Amino acid sequence: MVSARKQFDVLIVGGGPAGIAAAVSAAQSGKRVGIVDDNPALGGQIWRGETAQSNSEAAAWLAKLHAWDVEVCAGTRVFDQPVSGVLRAESGDGTYQIEYGKLILATGARERFLPFPGWTLQNVMGAGALQALVKSGLPVSGKRVAIAGTGPLLLAVAAYLKNDGAKVVAIYEQVSRTALAKFALKVAAQRGKLAQALWLRKELRDIPLITNAWPVAARGNGVVESVVLCRGGKHEEIACDYLACGFHLVPNTELAVLLGCRLQNGYVQVDDFQQTSQPNVFCAGEPTGIGGVELSLIEGQIAGLVAIGKEGEAQSLFSARRKMRSFAEALDRTFALRPELKSLASTGTIVCRCEDVKYGQMTQHRSWRAAKLHTRCGMGPCQGRVCGPATQFLLGWTPESVRPPIFPVALENLISETHEEKEHTFVM
Ligand SMILES: Cc1cc2nc3c(=O)[nH]c(=O)nc-3n(C[C@H](O)[C@H](O)[C@H](O)COP(=O)(O)OP(=O)(O)OC[C@H]3O[C@@H](n4cnc5c(N)ncnc54)[C@H](O)[C@@H]3O)c2cc1C
Repeated sequence: MVSARKQFDVLIVGGGPAGIAAAVSAAQSGKRVGIVDDNPALGGQIWRGETAQSNSEAAAWLAKLHAWDVEVCAGTRVFDQPVSGVLRAESGDGTYQIEYGKLILATGARERFLPFPGWTLQNVMGAGALQALVKSGLPVSGKRVAIAGTGPLLLAVAAYLKNDGAKVVAIYEQVSRTALAKFALKVAAQRGKLAQALWLRKELRDIPLITNAWPVAARGNGVVESVVLCRGGKHEEIACDYLACGFHLVPNTELAVLLGCRLQNGYVQVDDFQQTSQPNVFCAGEPTGIGGVELSLIEGQIAGLVAIGKEGEAQSLFSARRKMRSFAEALDRTFALRPELKSLASTGTIVCRCEDVKYGQMTQHRSWRAAKLHTRCGMGPCQGRVCGPATQFLLGWTPESVRPPIFPVALENLISETHEEKEHTFVM
């Protein structure tokens, strides 16, 4: 397998809206700008698979990006920083050592899952995950889909699936109707968001939105056949072919933590210029706070401008960012998880799906570290990306450190890297 070297003045990790905006801003300088993303194409979570016809905003940003000389390394995943200023990444061709002058982390967020009996049944999946599968060809026409959990993503997914022919049975949202109404007022105050909210309201007019309700079990013989929901203190069972379930989003902070960037309340801490606690490392988009596509775009532009020394131009975007950040705070407040969800898992419920570790095995231990050592929880292919945030909520555990590789890497690639390093050391 090939091990190659690349060099950029400005390197961006993450090709979602934040990373694209950062690259567009930084590229104006004529410096060498590169963008790395682990998906086959740029766009991140929200613009995945969009075309000029389906999403004009995405198309406009991608056109701006392609107008500049930005090197796009798609299908490439950063997994380590061996020394300051150099990242290691893996793609289908092998590994890369990527040197950077300035680094912008735009690594986005993922769905948070909470374990409950039956959540490992086939066709119980993340709401965003089901949407992604449908975007890549899974047919859901005529299928009954129950959507449950919390956060605005549930609504976006419901609209998407409905338009793809699914029969969305209902959306079950754990927060109260009053909390949702307050949030709707906040949305109404933001022009861009209001248009999106009105569109969603129209699209979802025939789908019941049931508040104060959450899933307590999924049932079925190998494949989900129904979901049991807690609603108004009573349990009710609804038949479905899919249960799309997610409990808002958690930021992807692993790379930032590996680089030594300080976190604050679970998010990467940045100053007004999107600068992290590490010199020459910036962060933009969801890792600094879950605030939606508009905030990601603004933060990306600021980070890109500052990385090329245009702080003055970046400052003109501060007031727009302030408004968007207040929306992010409202999101966090509104969709905070209710304490009842802490009792969803029973002792026999699998919490770590990679290593098949049950809730009852985890509660024998007092910390994430102890549970990891004794049960291997969090040590499988997802490296605790699913069970880590779940146990943080359920048991108050916080992972103490992040170790490379932050993603699984083919052994032959790791070996070839080590071999090359040795040869290099010998020559020197
Ligand atoms: C599953 C999912 C579905 C969503 N769907 C919608 C939707 O339909 N509508 C909506 O309004 N909002 C949606 N959102 C929210 C939306 O993602 C955000 O509002 C916004 O797009 C975030 O942009 P971003 O650039 O900060 O991050 P992202 O769009 O998440 O982009 C980050 C990118 O970085 C890549 N990455 C991360 N780590 C590495 C690494 N180490 N090496 C290489 N690449 C890496 C990721 O794969 C990803 O492509 C969704 C979120 C999720 C998690």
